[in-house]
Amino acid sequence: QAKVAGRNTLRFFSPDLQAAINTRVAMEDDLHRAVGKAQFSLHYQPQVEHGHLVGAEALIRWNHPERGVVAPGQFIPLAEETGLILPLGQWVLETACRQIATWDTRKDTAHIVLAVNVSALQFRQPNFIEQTLSTLEKTGANPQKLKLELTESLLVDNIEDVIAKMTALRSRGVRFSLDDFGTGYSSLSYLKRLPLDQLKIDRSFVKDVLTDANDAAIAKTIVALGQTMGLSVIAEGVETEAQRGFLSGLGCHAYQGFLFGRPLPLEEFQMSLQSLAN
Ligand code: C2E
Ligand code: MG
Ligand code: MG
Ligand code: MG
Repeated sequence: QAKVAGRNTLRFFSPDLQAAINTRVAMEDDLHRAVGKAQFSLHYQPQVEHGHLVGAEALIRWNHPERGVVAPGQFIPLAEETGLILPLGQWVLETACRQIATWDTRKDTAHIVLAVNVSALQFRQPNFIEQTLSTLEKTGANPQKLKLELTESLLVDNIEDVIAKMTALRSRGVRFSLDDFGTGYSSLSYLKRLPLDQLKIDRSFVKDVLTDANDAAIAKTIVALGQTMGLSVIAEGVETEAQRGFLSGLGCHAYQGFLFGRPLPLEEFQMSLQSLAN
């Protein structure tokens, strides 16, 4: 909002907007410096199927020296705009693969499949296959324990390229889940061509699934679609027993959400496994 603030002074931005811009510039600066320093960590959130822990999702956290823990919603979009998501995404993949290799050596964690979020920009890189395979190799991670979460935003790309990349990695054992399913641009004709393993029902449909007939219909449709296409279906953001019961009634038996556990730092996540195991 441009306004005349006084004689000969033209202020183009409101103070609020200027403050927002300053924050953004400062964040971008900080993010540049944080990449390369050890300011990031992964939290782990359990994925449960038929009452058993089957996997976890790795979720990045930025431990900002002054701001404290910053949630990904506040810096991932910025990292994508600036391209910083590339080194950051590689760090996430490598850290996750190292964790897979470590868990593989322990009886109580060897079965865990670790889901890793991959941004569209990262997946689009011409060397994405090579980079992922070399990361698996150098960390010693079993590819079958790695699940890559992609979003529908990829489907606006060259679909042949997306299919080729997925097929190459899948032939090595890597699995694929379509994250936030139902919120993006999915065309069903593209969907049937993707070599996917899983659809992930977005939290926005789970939230009011008990009270909103449209959300219930969408959840039901996604479960049916998954069954027809031979894909597993997991619901994210399950917070209550009632939501879990409803989803179970639809035939969805895999869940992720606060009901089963919040995303936790490594040590706490590992401690929580004992209680989930029962
Ligand atoms: P997402 O991949 O859909 O991850 C699920 C988000 O839902 C996580 O938020 C998780 O903490 C939250 N969540 C899980 N269960 C519940 C629940 O029961 N209730 C509520 N209210 N929330 C729940 P988070 O960790 O803030 O991550 C947000 C998004 O940031 C992720 O959404 C993902 O798109 C992105 N993200 C996180 N880590 C990475 C990463 O390493 N790389 C990339 N490219 N994106 C990431
Ligand atoms: Mg995800
Ligand atoms: Mg999701
Ligand atoms: Mg989501």
